[in-house]
Amino acid sequence: MKLHEYQSKTIFSKYGIPIPKGRVAATPQEAREIAKELGGKVVIKAQVLVGGRGKAGGVKVANDPAEAEELAMQILGMSIKGLPVRKVLVDEASNIDQEIYFSITNDRAAKKPVMIASAAGGVDIEEVAAKTPEKIVKMHIDPIIGLKEYTARDVALAMGLPKQYMKDFTKIALGLWEVFKATDATLAEINPLVITKEKKMIALDGKMLLDDSALFRQVELEATRDTDEDAPAEIEARKYGLSFIKLDGNIGCMVNGAGLAMTSMDVIKLFGGEPANFLDIGGGADSKKVAAAMRIILTDPNVKAVLFNIFGGITRCDEVAKGILVAMDEVKPKVPMVVRLVGTNAEEGRKLLENANMITAETLADAAKKAVAAAKG
Ligand code: GDP
Ligand code: MN
Repeated sequence: MKLHEYQSKTIFSKYGIPIPKGRVAATPQEAREIAKELGGKVVIKAQVLVGGRGKAGGVKVANDPAEAEELAMQILGMSIKGLPVRKVLVDEASNIDQEIYFSITNDRAAKKPVMIASAAGGVDIEEVAAKTPEKIVKMHIDPIIGLKEYTARDVALAMGLPKQYMKDFTKIALGLWEVFKATDATLAEINPLVITKEKKMIALDGKMLLDDSALFRQVELEATRDTDEDAPAEIEARKYGLSFIKLDGNIGCMVNGAGLAMTSMDVIKLFGGEPANFLDIGGGADSKKVAAAMRIILTDPNVKAVLFNIFGGITRCDEVAKGILVAMDEVKPKVPMVVRLVGTNAEEGRKLLENANMITAETLADAAKKAVAAAKG
């Protein structure tokens, strides 16, 4: 799950990381009010869950409340990488002297968290990483010992941070480590972490990704999820505990097991088709879950055929068949459906579907070929 900049920075602040004063606005008038409260220059920042807002024109400095209103109106009318801007953050503007990159993420290969830092931070960090990788410092954190001051200091030295900022940086690094642990983050990033002309170190931007598998113990954070930007089908899928990702093809797929779902998509492609989605109904899905999955697939207007590929291990094929029948009754699908049921109670399942006017298949290859042909009409 992604957090917005303003949410990330609020958490940073709780852990002692300095952030600019500011608040979120949903209207240009509100932005003006906040600018008035803050006094002086402010920066208006689009709150969308993608990077590169600055380059897309979603971050602008305003000199006074009237300009803040004007710029907020512009930015609130924008879409950035397809996402409509519904909120802006109005922050006290900073006089930037230097932009630093600093983040903590997991290094899966090393099985340890890693700090990534660079004195050449800012909007071009990807380019820095690609062209001058020597400017990027990486240092692991021992998950048992945790982050110690001396390791944070090593990072500062390695990136050539002036000595006078050692203390500020160490405090911020230790703070970010606490944030990372406390929120079950997979990424906690500050870019830029700035040194201002007034010689202060402040987190100007914040980005956080939380581990979806840990959300059960991050109840408060999960409640702040911004579903505005998720496809409605994905929200619906989450409600039923289905793993669903919408794709651009025209063959809807309903499969149990992530590996089998991937394989089904591969085989569809092998026979010249394009999957409309990835969907894993999971092990032991009951008819309700299956019906929900089917509603989700069939509400996609691109779907011209549906392939059911169910391996009944823990999942019972008759339960899946019941779910299909319930959903068919409800949604009245007009597209052809190809079904392959194998395993536990497959025979019972097939019997239930006999009168449902479905195309049956014995093997996955057979099912995929039939689905591809059916989608072509
Ligand atoms: P991003 O493009 O989505 O990463 O958004 P950022 O919050 O990182 O802002 C992009 C860039 O805008 C920063 O790297 C800064 O150069 C600039 N910027 C952001 N806030 C301020 C500010 O308060 N003052 C000034 N002068 N520039 C800012
Ligand atoms: Mn940034």
